[in-house]
Amino acid sequence: MEKPDPPLRKRSLTDRRAWWLTASAATPGQARFFEGSGADLDLADLLVENAVGWMPMPLGVASGLVVNGVSHEVPLATEEPSVIAAVSYAASVAARTGGFAAGAADPVMRAQVFLEGSFPDAESRLEAHREALEAEARTHLTSMELRGGGFRRLSFARIEGVGGVVRLDVDVRDAMGANLLNTVAEAMAPSLEKALGGKRLMAILSNDGSGRPAWAEVKLVIDPDRARRIALASQVAQVEPQRAVTHNKGIMNGITALALATANDTRALEAAVHTFASATGSCRGLSRWTVEGDTLKGRIDLPLALATVGGSAGIHPTARMALQLLGNPDSPGLCTIAAALGLAQNFAALNALVGDGIQKGHMALHQRRAAWREEHS
Ligand code: NAD
Repeated sequence: MEKPDPPLRKRSLTDRRAWWLTASAATPGQARFFEGSGADLDLADLLVENAVGWMPMPLGVASGLVVNGVSHEVPLATEEPSVIAAVSYAASVAARTGGFAAGAADPVMRAQVFLEGSFPDAESRLEAHREALEAEARTHLTSMELRGGGFRRLSFARIEGVGGVVRLDVDVRDAMGANLLNTVAEAMAPSLEKALGGKRLMAILSNDGSGRPAWAEVKLVIDPDRARRIALASQVAQVEPQRAVTHNKGIMNGITALALATANDTRALEAAVHTFASATGSCRGLSRWTVEGDTLKGRIDLPLALATVGGSAGIHPTARMALQLLGNPDSPGLCTIAAALGLAQNFAALNALVGDGIQKGHMALHQRRAAWREEHS
């Protein structure tokens, strides 16, 4: 396709939308849907560059997810059928034995300042300047310090063939913290160059989620043979990486849908989770199921960096409604619900897989979709 002339960034929103309809060769049915799906177009224009409209995703609600004794109606935005039904089913099974116990740590994120050079005496130089560097870091984090978060740690590590990296750990409270950490990292770079004697290569946050661990557990009483087979299937995901990838994808079906419903950064979330799952050098299941007496016990551990303020989460009206539906949780509160959601989704998937298989439920939906496509083409 030819490049738009004039370029999209120089055109008005109305003009870009007209270009989109022509350039995409929209059918009358598609054009009608596109025109009707424009929520607040000015907001789309504010959120991204070269905006032409909205790409509406179905938004549904998984019902009755009991977490730490509280029942939640969980908003999920997803294009995949069966995800919401699966969570709701798992939630109803778990509710019979009290639901999920779950939690999330304080939200600590890391900024990295990479320095070129050789650093024979970096440790002693860092110690000599530590007090001043920490004080300077705090000046860039005043509002976060006032919220009870802010500066946590400063450390250094060598990187073979490059030089080293200075790591700044910050409690970002209810935000994802990307912009804040990038700002601090860039602002601190000149002082770090001076203190350690290197030259800045780059400064940015890390999406590694080690500083934001979350977990959930559940005890279920179900048919003993089904429980045994679920435990066996979860064992497969601990030792067979190709199955582990799919096991974890299923866990993220619900968590990513919650992230999307709350306008969180899904790429950051998934990068952290899948890196954590592969920390041993081979992908492993994020959850484990074991049978103890007449109880099937499940546990999930994963990093979750979900925000309830800032970014698009803080501005998208539907995301705000999604958070309000959940009772306006703080970031660890949202991550706690997400961890339970992941374990619920995992139970539903394993239960179907070792039972009738997952296609039975899917096929009826596929037939309804095919009929819709025919009617609207
Ligand atoms: P942000 O820039 O909107 O900052 C959050 C704001 O919320 C801050 O100004 C803070 O002062 C304020 N705030 C109010 N109440 C708060 C509370 N209780 N806790 C914490 N902060 C509170 O958002 P952000 O979190 O810094 O950055 C998120 C955005 O950055 C996302 O859109 C993400 O996609 C994007 N981003 C990501 C990356 C990456 O992941 N590598 C890189 C760059 C940008």
